[in-house]
Amino acid sequence: AERALIQSEKLAAVGRLASSISHEINNPLEAVTNLLYLIATDEVLPPSLKPYVHAAQDELSRVSQIATQTLRFHRQSNKPTAVTPAQLVDAVLNLFAGRLSNSGIHVEASYSTATKIVCFENDIRQVLNNLIANAIDAMRTGGRLLARAHDAHHGGLEGVRILVADTGTGMSVETQRRLFEPFYTTKDLNGTGLGLWISKEIVDRHGGDLRVRSTQNGKMHGTVFSLFLPKEPPAVAASNSAPLKSPAVVK
Ligand code: ADP
Repeated sequence: AERALIQSEKLAAVGRLASSISHEINNPLEAVTNLLYLIATDEVLPPSLKPYVHAAQDELSRVSQIATQTLRFHRQSNKPTAVTPAQLVDAVLNLFAGRLSNSGIHVEASYSTATKIVCFENDIRQVLNNLIANAIDAMRTGGRLLARAHDAHHGGLEGVRILVADTGTGMSVETQRRLFEPFYTTKDLNGTGLGLWISKEIVDRHGGDLRVRSTQNGKMHGTVFSLFLPKEPPAVAASNSAPLKSPAVVK
C-alpha cells in the first residue's frame, strides 16, 4: 500500500509539471495552428506546396494532442457551458479533418438530438479527441468513422449518448478489459496508455458513462465507444440548487 502511495504521489508531481508545461505551450501552439490553417485554405497556395502544409498540420495536431492530453488533473477547470453534442463532436472532427482524409477515412456524422448539456467543454472535447485519435490509429488502411448522438437515460439521469464507431482493427478481449487502466497501451512507444484512463476520469466527474464494444472477428471488425453525458453534471446541479445567500446575512 505504501508503494502504491509513493507511486501516486510521483504521478501527481509529474502531472503538475506536465500540465504547467502544456499550459505554457498551448497558446503558441494554437496560434501556429490557426496560421497554418489560413495558409492551407488560401487560394493562391501553389498546389505543389499543399502536401507540405497538410503534413505540417498533421504533425502539429499530434503535438497539440500530446499537450492537451497531459493538461489534465491539476489544472483549474473553467466554467461549465451548455453545448449540443453536434457542437462538441464537430469541433473535434474539424481538428482532425486533415488527418482523417490523409488516412483515407470516410466520416459520417449525424445527430438526432439538439439537447444542450452542461459540461466542462474542454474536458469533453478532450475525451472525444482521444476516442477519435484512437479510431484513426485503428484504421491504418482507411475505413469509416461514425459519429452519432441521441437523447438517452442512464442511472436515472436524463442526457445524451454520443457514439463514436470505427471499422478499424478492433481489440482483443484482454485489451477491452484493460483499456481504462493507466499506462495500458498496445502501441509501444507510440502510445501513452493515458488517453482512455483520463477520458474515463473526466466522464466520471461529469456523472456520465463510457463503455466500449469491439470485435476482431471476420469481416465485421471494429469498435464502438458509447459516451453518456447527463444534461447537467451532479456537482453543477447541486451548486445551482444551493440556496442563494442573502447579502444581508454575509458578514
Ligand atoms: P494509447 O492510445 O496511448 O495506447 P489509450 O488509453 O487511449 O492509450 O488506449 C489504450 C489502448 O486501447 C490502445 O493502446 C489500444 O490498444 C486500445 N484502443 C483504444 N481505442 C481503440 C480503437 N478505437 N480501436 C482499437 N483499439 C483501441
